[in-house]
Amino acid sequence: SGQEQREFDYFKLALQWPGTICQGNHRCCASNGCCQGSNSLSEFTIHGLWPDYNDGSWPSCCNGPRYDSKEISTLTDVLKKYWPSLSCSKSSTCHGGKGTFWAHEWEKHGTCCSPVIRDEYSYFLTAINVYSKHNVTQVLNEAGYLPSNSEKYPLGGIITAIQNAFHATPELQCKGGAVEELHLCFFKDFKPRDCISEPHIESYLVASSSCPKYVSLPDVQA
Ligand code: 5GP
Ligand code: 5GP
Repeated sequence: SGQEQREFDYFKLALQWPGTICQGNHRCCASNGCCQGSNSLSEFTIHGLWPDYNDGSWPSCCNGPRYDSKEISTLTDVLKKYWPSLSCSKSSTCHGGKGTFWAHEWEKHGTCCSPVIRDEYSYFLTAINVYSKHNVTQVLNEAGYLPSNSEKYPLGGIITAIQNAFHATPELQCKGGAVEELHLCFFKDFKPRDCISEPHIESYLVASSSCPKYVSLPDVQA
């Protein structure tokens, strides 16, 4: 079922804002605890490390070993903290079955990171390292964009704060006016690069983004 695909062009680190996701899921998550516990809901967590093509498409479900939880047993504690599953439904794997969020991300995206990343352990370790080196939550907090259920912040201000910190333009996705995802992009050597190329930034801000001009970063209590 895996496919041989041409080599990807760049990486996208997809982060999710738990306050937005857990707002919608709160009741469901109360039963399985995914939006509770020791995890902070006021920090971006990892959705996935995605290989992408410059034309806007991406490879998925490439040839590679199936997910094996034993491969990453030494990373489990760190992954639970920074890469928690905040969804109650089981994810589909590339092979038609149901699996964990981690299994889904490895099989769908991780297997396509070759030749830069070639195995499951390296995939998760690399994602954690890149995430740790680029602390988006801290950057936004320092710019005055703090989790809040009443404040709204200018989308342009959030983008500028990230640009100033990493010298690259991120991509944002919103749900109901709240930031749901923030994507940071990297060259294959993990130096930051723009997710959105220059000529498109203006139109992105005006039209094609799912975010309004003023966005919130909901502060959901665990
Ligand atoms: P959505 O439609 O919710 O934005 O994305 C659904 C899924 O498509 C994501 O979970 C991810 O697996 C994949 N996807 C969406 N956008 C991108 C992208 O820009 N790059 C890659 N590699 N995958 C994406
Ligand atoms: P993607 O959008 O990456 O292709 O797919 C995400 C899949 O993982 C969906 O099937 C979704 O149900 C599952 N999933 C499990 N936990 C999470 C989570 O915390 N965030 C997101 N976006 N999807 C999750």
